[in-house]
Amino acid sequence: MEKTPHIAIVPSPGMGHLIPLVEFAKRLKNNHNISATFIIPNDGPLSISQTSFLDSLPNGLNYIILPPVNFDDLPNDTQMETRISLMVTRSLDSIREAFKSLVVEKNMVALFIDLFGTDAFDVAIEYGVSPYVFFPSTAMALSLFLYLPKLDQMVSCEYRDLPEPVQIPGCIPVRGQDLLDPVQDRKNDAYKWVLHNAKRYKMAEGIAVNSFMELEGGALKSLLEAEPGKPPVYPVGPLVQTGSSGDGVDESGCLKWLDAQPCGSVLYISFGSGGTLSSNQLNELAMGLELSEQRFIWVVRSPSDKPNATYFNSHGHSDPFGFLPKGFLKRIKGTGFVVSSWAPQARILSHSSTGGFMTHCGWNSILETVVHGVPVIAWPLYAEQKMNAVSLTEDVKVALRPTAGENGIVGRVEIARVVKSLLEGEEGKAIRSRIRDLKDAAANVLSKDGCSTKYLDTLASKLKNKNNLTL
Ligand code: UDP
Repeated sequence: MEKTPHIAIVPSPGMGHLIPLVEFAKRLKNNHNISATFIIPNDGPLSISQTSFLDSLPNGLNYIILPPVNFDDLPNDTQMETRISLMVTRSLDSIREAFKSLVVEKNMVALFIDLFGTDAFDVAIEYGVSPYVFFPSTAMALSLFLYLPKLDQMVSCEYRDLPEPVQIPGCIPVRGQDLLDPVQDRKNDAYKWVLHNAKRYKMAEGIAVNSFMELEGGALKSLLEAEPGKPPVYPVGPLVQTGSSGDGVDESGCLKWLDAQPCGSVLYISFGSGGTLSSNQLNELAMGLELSEQRFIWVVRSPSDKPNATYFNSHGHSDPFGFLPKGFLKRIKGTGFVVSSWAPQARILSHSSTGGFMTHCGWNSILETVVHGVPVIAWPLYAEQKMNAVSLTEDVKVALRPTAGENGIVGRVEIARVVKSLLEGEEGKAIRSRIRDLKDAAANVLSKDGCSTKYLDTLASKLKNKNNLTL
């Protein structure tokens, strides 16, 4: 049997899960010589971004694409979390097949799942391999996951109807309506799936979380306290893509355009791999950017009334530029640059011309902006993003958040105000200084003797020394 310790990783769908898991696997490979195979559930052909990302995996990291699951029976309004959980659950037979071959060929030491893949634990346990979680989101969301089974028993109404904010262990109080989307309707299957997975987290032998003390001190301190039934937690973040892989070439020319802009002058606007705006909102954003007279790069997607419409395929289906206001592209020529559907985000954020980031507050985007010290405009759309926006604006105070009007739309004047304020105003200056401190802290925790490196070392030794349960 090959001696190198090997782990299997079952990512739930979405680039936002795959990217940090690959960074995690790269660190285990480079620092500890632990190799990995990604076992990829899906419901059809992978997106262009996923395929090119997987094709650029370095030596020691491999992947297996499972046969697609069938979702023909699911109603159209099935929520994202239900689909993600079912994709793993309906792939269990093929995960088992893939795992069977890996166990024969490799020195398997662990199976890692992310957010909603705990059903795959059963396969690991069948083969005497240790189950682990890599939590690609916030320590705050992890604290909520571990607390949810108790909260579910204590509260009988909808969380959004609670008169007092919810006190997640270690965190600032959060209003019920700002909690994760899938816990907003307890009768919906999405809630049942989140609760199902949350209850199974205690089966894990450890949970690695993509965060660090200076960013989420309260939540992490509480997570690090040992408690019966709570797996040990390893804060190994911020693990972010470095821009060297998966970004492909500068197809749109946006990096070349950035090269020609003054230092810190450009606002980068992107709503993650899946975020979409309504047609009305897209129009207001375009007009607001124009009104602000600031430089920008905007990753434009075709509008939709569902805020996560392109989550499973970030490239969408129609030409997004056709939805922009008439004459917009001509008028912004020189000051603005639009990119269709997908941009090399890590390279944009690390570019010296980039001075701000309007983001949907996906956790990877936040970590990337922190690592590069770029101030934020928080525009949460789905999943746990409202919680993230609350901690960015009210806790670590590195973001401005525009206010929506009574119709739920953020108007052009408000957009122009916030953009100017971030790039040119006093508020922007204070935020820039705070986020630079966080950038230094992030570099520090990832340095050779930094906390996150040490936590990863401890986890790696545990993986290597594990006498796996024997069959
Ligand atoms: N991303 C990118 N280009 C894009 C949009 C997204 O490279 O045009 C990357 C981004 O850098 C991040 C990930 O995709 O690493 C998105 O993850 P996040 O957690 O921010 O949001 P999600 O897509 O999961 O909602």
